[in-house]
Amino acid sequence: MSATNSRIVIKSPREIELMRAAGRLVAQVLDEAQALVCPGRTTAELNETAARIIREAGATPLFLGVRNPQARFPFPAVICSSVNEEVVHGIPSDRPLQDGDIVSIDCGVRLKGYCGDAARTFSVGERVTPEARRLLDVTREALAVALREARPNVRWSRVARAMQRCVEEQGFGVVREFVGHGIGREMHEEPKVPNYVERAQRHSDFELLPGMTLAIEPMVSAGRPEVEFGDDSHWPMVTRDRSQAAHFEHTVAVTVDGVEVLTDGS
Ligand code: MG
Ligand code: MG
Repeated sequence: MSATNSRIVIKSPREIELMRAAGRLVAQVLDEAQALVCPGRTTAELNETAARIIREAGATPLFLGVRNPQARFPFPAVICSSVNEEVVHGIPSDRPLQDGDIVSIDCGVRLKGYCGDAARTFSVGERVTPEARRLLDVTREALAVALREARPNVRWSRVARAMQRCVEEQGFGVVREFVGHGIGREMHEEPKVPNYVERAQRHSDFELLPGMTLAIEPMVSAGRPEVEFGDDSHWPMVTRDRSQAAHFEHTVAVTVDGVEVLTDGS
């Protein structure tokens, strides 16, 4: 076992059962958001609905009040809603969604001490461009590739390479600034779970083992992968070339022969 693996907390079957419950709640929030997304709806309304579902379940939203040393204020909402060129950390607002937008909804909760974290990107209305539809398909497929490739005794870099190939073959960009993560009692645990491979990361590569719980989350740009702050709050991250971006995420548990998705609502 590598030094990196030794800092990764392996969960017991009981802990994974608790994470399944948290994951189911996240899936419920995203299902409800999916049902509500339409032209004219505001992301603030989606946030209110998410807040109610989480509160009624007796869970705690993970994003509300998160501090980021660069941001001007703590994160003010329970979901992140990132529209078009926003990649992640978009703040729900009263701006109505427009026909042709794409919107990524990211949600994290803690229920009975354990966390779930997932994201999906939705198209709004009928006027979404063919390229944006392809962006959503490819990002969803990059996550699906990871779910197929991840299994015990495989190094994460092998999975990440397959994800990166899936994206770049289509001419899209893998965002580098944000990566997936271990998850459990805390939203962010060891290890880092990147969606690309770079020589500089080879020391943090790790071997997948049963009982690891990970949030896998490809973030993909239709153009160049570089990102920057979208406004002076220093929360929303946007693509520097203002191309649209998509984000799909699942929390998974590594099993004896693959992974179990904990945030697909099953
Ligand atoms: Mg997330
Ligand atoms: Mg995450």
